[in-house]
Parts: sequence; structure tokens; C-alpha cells
Amino acid sequence: MFCSNCGKEISDKAYICPNCGVKTNASVDAENDQLRSMSIAAIVLTFFVPIVGFILGIVVLAKMKQNGTIGVPSDVRDMSISAVVIVGIGILLTIILMLALFC
Ligand SMILES: [Zn+2]
Repeated sequence: MFCSNCGKEISDKAYICPNCGVKTNASVDAENDQLRSMSIAAIVLTFFVPIVGFILGIVVLAKMKQNGTIGVPSDVRDMSISAVVIVGIGILLTIILMLALFC
């Protein structure tokens, strides 16, 4: 493949262009794959260990904010937001329920 920044031909497996040091598409793809796996795990964990799913969802969102949302597939973004929202609603309902029961 060719570097998206300097146009020099580089190895398909290279994560960083040896010429200019910019991240390659392979690197971006690998990061997105990792984020996707993490957000799927966050969704699944949300139903079994909500707090872990919640934290994982926050971690994915934080990583996306760090990398910039450009280039992050929308399904990854949606899944990590869903994990955080699902647990957020769960916590909120629990608090409301407890207030209703004890007040
Ligand atoms: Zn380059």
C-alpha cells in the first residue's frame, strides 16, 4: 500500500510509515477492530456484570475521544454509547426504585 500522508510505498503490514511516521490504514483498522471488540464486550458485560460493562464503555468512549471520532465506525460508537446508556438507565431506575421504597 501507499502512505496516505507522504505517498511512499510501504509494507501492507506496517502500522507506521517508515518515511514520515504517520499511522497507516492498517494501524487505524487494527485500532478500530480493538475498539469494536471492546464495545461488543461492554454490551455483553452490561447484562451480566453491569459495572464492568459501564467502565469498558467509558474506556472505549475515552479512547475514541483521544483518537478523534473521524474514522471510527459508527457501529463501534453506537455500541459503546449503548453500553453506557443501558447501565446509566439501570442505575437511575435502581435509585428511583429505592427512593420509592424507602421514602
Ligand atoms: Zn508516509
